[in-house]
Amino acid sequence: MTIAVLGTGIMGSAMARNWLKAGETVRVWNRTRAKAEPLAEAGAQVADDPGSAVEGADVIVTMLYDADAVAQAMEAAAGRIGPGALWLQMSTVGIEGAQRLADLATQRRLTYVDSPVVGTKEPAEQGKLTALASGPDEVRDRVETVLRPVAAKVLWVGPAGQGSRLKLVANTWVLTATEGVANAFALADALGLDGNDFLKVIEGGPLDLTYAHVKGALMMRREFPPSFPVSGAVKDANLILAAGESAGVDLAAVEAARRHLDEVARGSHRDEDMAAMYLAARRA
Ligand code: NAP
Repeated sequence: MTIAVLGTGIMGSAMARNWLKAGETVRVWNRTRAKAEPLAEAGAQVADDPGSAVEGADVIVTMLYDADAVAQAMEAAAGRIGPGALWLQMSTVGIEGAQRLADLATQRRLTYVDSPVVGTKEPAEQGKLTALASGPDEVRDRVETVLRPVAAKVLWVGPAGQGSRLKLVANTWVLTATEGVANAFALADALGLDGNDFLKVIEGGPLDLTYAHVKGALMMRREFPPSFPVSGAVKDANLILAAGESAGVDLAAVEAARRHLDEVARGSHRDEDMAAMYLAARRA
C-alpha cells in the first residue's frame, strides 16, 4: 500500500513512522520541508508538493492544522490523485470544516472518511491513538486495515462528519480537565502548598486522573514541551464553542479554558503545551 501523508507536524510524523514500521510505502509532504526530511532516514519519500506526494497513492492522509490548510493542500493535489484513492481526513476541523471538506471530496469524486483522532504525541508515537472514523460503510474494513499501525482503537461512528462531532465532545473533556488541573495546581501553589500533596489526595480515588499527574508535573516544573500545543488547543476551543453555540449548549468550562489559552497564546507560549494555561490561572 502507498500512503501519502500531508502534514508532518507532531502527529503526522509519528503516524508516518508507524506506517513505515508496518512496511507500507509512505510519501510525506510538509509546508516546511525541513520537518519532513528526518522521515527520509526512516524510509519515507519526501515530496516537494502535495501533488507529487499523492500521485499513485492508495490512501491520502491529511494531518494539518485546520480545515483551511487541508483544503489548500487537497486543492493543490487534486489533479494528481488517482481513481479509487481513499482520503482519510484526520486533522481536527470541527463540524463545518468536516462538511466543507466532504463537499470538496464530492466535487473531486474522492472517497472521503472523516476520522479525527484522540491521543497526543506519545500515543501517536506508540501507534495507540483512538480513531473516530466516519464515512461510507463499504470502506469500513479498508479503513480499519489502514489504521491498524497507528490506532489501538478504531470507533466507526456513522456517516462522514460524525467523527468530527465526537472529536469535539472528546476535546471538551480534554480542555476542561486540563483547565481543572491548572486551577487546582495554581491554587495549591498560591496557598503555599505542594502540588504533590494534591496528587496524594486524589491518588487511587474515583477522581484520580492520569492526566492530573502528567499535566500537573509540567505545571509544577513550569516547563511545557509541546504534546498538544496551545495553538491547536485555542483552535479546538473555538470549534467546540461554535458547535455549542449552534446546538444551544452553554459550555462555560470551555469558555474558561479558552480565556486562559488565549492569554498564554498572546504571551509567547503558542507553541508550548496547553498545560501552560496554568500560567494564566496562576497569573504568573
Ligand atoms: P503541529 O505539530 O502544530 O503541525 C501542524 C501542521 O499543519 C504542520 O505540518 C504545519 O506545517 C501544517 N500547517 C499549518 N498551517 C498550514 C497551512 N496554512 N498550509 C499548510 N500546512 C499548514 O500540529 P499537530 O499536533 O501535528 O496537529 C495536527 C492536527 O491534528 C491538528 O488538526 C490538531 O488539532 C490535530 N490533533 C493534534 C493532537 C495533539 O495532541 N497534538 C491530538 C489530536 C489531534 P508547518 O510545519 O509548515 O508549519
